[in-house]
Amino acid sequence: MFTYVVCVVGPKRNVGKTTVVEGLVKKITEKGFRIGTVKHIHGTFDTPKKDTWKHIKAGATATGVITDSELLTIWNSSELPIIPETILDKLPKNLDYVIVEGFRHSEYPKIIVADVAEDLESINLSNTVAISGRIVEKPEELKKLDLDAPVVKINESEKLVNLLESRAQTIFVNQLPGIDCKSCGYNTCADFAEAVRAGEADVRQCITMFTKVDLAIDGKTIVMKGFVQDLFKAVVMGVVKELKEVPEKSREISLQIRLD
Ligand code: SF4
Repeated sequence: MFTYVVCVVGPKRNVGKTTVVEGLVKKITEKGFRIGTVKHIHGTFDTPKKDTWKHIKAGATATGVITDSELLTIWNSSELPIIPETILDKLPKNLDYVIVEGFRHSEYPKIIVADVAEDLESINLSNTVAISGRIVEKPEELKKLDLDAPVVKINESEKLVNLLESRAQTIFVNQLPGIDCKSCGYNTCADFAEAVRAGEADVRQCITMFTKVDLAIDGKTIVMKGFVQDLFKAVVMGVVKELKEVPEKSREISLQIRLD
C-alpha cells in the first residue's frame, strides 16, 4: 500500500493550518482517495477523572472508546517518542494520504502556513511543497523569503492538491515493485510509470500498490498480485457472508491467524 504523508505546519496558532487541512481533506476525498489526518496537540486529549483517563492512569497501555459514530483509541504515550511515525503506525494501512497538522521539525513534505517571513525561522524548510497563509497576500514579506517553493492562497485547495498529487506520483512510480504482473493493463511497471507521468494512467490502476488485501506473515508484508488478492477476498467473503450478525454494508474485514 502506498500512503503519501504531508505535514501542514506553522509557527504558532491561528495562522490558518486547520483551514488548509480542511480544504485538503475535502478536495482529496472528492477525488475518491482515502485520507487520514493527524494533529499534534499539547497537554492531554482525555478528560481528567473520566473513566478512560482512570484506565490509563491505572497502567493500561491503551484504552478504546466506541460510540454509534466514532471509534477512539487512547494510548499511554509517556514512553513513546513524540514523532509522526508513532501515530502513523497506529492508523489504518489503507489510506492514500495522511495530512499531519503540526510537527514543524519533521523531514516529511511540508506545507508551510505563515503570516510573515519571520515565521519560517522556527520551521524545518527541507522538503517544502508550498507556502500558504496570510503571507501570500504580503508581497513585501514574500520578497524576504529565500525559499524556492510555490506560493498558494489559503483557499486554493485544488492547487495544493495538484501539487501533492504530483509529488506523490513521483514517489509512487519510484516505488513500483517491478514484478510486471500486468494487472494495470500495461506490460511492465516501467510502461505504467511512463503512462502515469504522461497523465494517461491513474496510480490506482496498480493493484499491487493499492492493495485490496493485506497479508503479513510474522510482520513481513507479502506482496500479492491482483488476481491472488481477488482470490483471497472471494474465499473470505464466501465464508463471512454465511455468518450471523455480519453487517450488510461492511467496508473492511480484519483476520489474524495464529499458527502455533
Ligand atoms: S499492476 Fe503494478 S506491479 Fe503490476 S505491472 Fe502494473 S505497475 Fe507493475
